[in-house]
Amino acid sequence: MICNREVPSVLSFGLALDGGVSNRLNLVLAFYAGRRTKKGPGLQSRLDALRFTLTLWPLEMNGASRLCHHGVAKEVTLKPTAAWLIDMDGVLVREEHAIDGAGRFIGGLEQRGIPFLVLTNNSMYTRRDLAARLVANGVMVPEESIWTSALATARFLANQRPSGSAYVIGEAGLTTALYEAGYTQTDRAPDYVVLGETRTYSFERITTAVRLIRDGARFIATNPDPTGPSAEGPLPATGSVAALISHATGTTPYFVGKPNPLMIRTALNRLGAHSETTTMIGDRMDTDVLAGLESGLQTVLVLSGVTQSEDIERHPYRPTRVVTSVAVLADELDELEQA
Ligand SMILES: [Mg+2]
Repeated sequence: MICNREVPSVLSFGLALDGGVSNRLNLVLAFYAGRRTKKGPGLQSRLDALRFTLTLWPLEMNGASRLCHHGVAKEVTLKPTAAWLIDMDGVLVREEHAIDGAGRFIGGLEQRGIPFLVLTNNSMYTRRDLAARLVANGVMVPEESIWTSALATARFLANQRPSGSAYVIGEAGLTTALYEAGYTQTDRAPDYVVLGETRTYSFERITTAVRLIRDGARFIATNPDPTGPSAEGPLPATGSVAALISHATGTTPYFVGKPNPLMIRTALNRLGAHSETTTMIGDRMDTDVLAGLESGLQTVLVLSGVTQSEDIERHPYRPTRVVTSVAVLADELDELEQA
């Protein structure tokens, strides 16, 4: 089986074969790719193709090439990436530890002035809190480069109903975002009930939310995730509490966070980037890859988070590319610099 894979500047081919056979065939294909490419004199092009083929080698050893089904080797038209949207948990950090290559990748983008936003469905924290968490893990992300489902929700509501009112169940990340978007927070006939992430869900506040929705308040939730990660195991998250309120009211919320493409659209608007030249990196097929795909972005799935390579083919859609972690992308940024 042979499949194609996109790389930043030259043709490359991945092979679902093992050891020496794969090695020899890759060399042959790298040579062939060099002959076909129009970049530079023949020998240099062949060396470029060989270098990128070898760069991708570790992916094949990690089983990523098993994703290629009945593919046919062909030339790939590469879309250059002008901006990046990067999921946070499972891509840059995991359980309060930086993932290999995260600091180098973000540093590489910063150094080259390539626009990016770090995205998270977690609405609990402010950008400042999240930037501090990343910095503590050695990933230097400025707070203005972070985009949360709380910010996307506040932007959405401010556009839909400027200077409106909301009854909010959530933490500082959400209440601050709504306040800065010009919203008043009240329990007296609000325009919206807005549900976000919190570790202190109270029966009393949930009861108030149920009654307000039954009286006509519109129901919004920052994200649909049923559980969130913790060192001790999964925690019930916004999606689970939304299900409780939905059951009590007969009203389903409008979820703003991933996989709603609205989260991606608001991030693109903030960056001033275009979907055709932006790439989404994430560790989940059902949120990151789906949201990126439905927004017209190229997608990169990393295997450093919740998705295992054998899970990918269960979905009816595929990422543009699969890599073991952002370390691969950090290496490629360095390669491009030297090319
Ligand atoms: Mg994630």
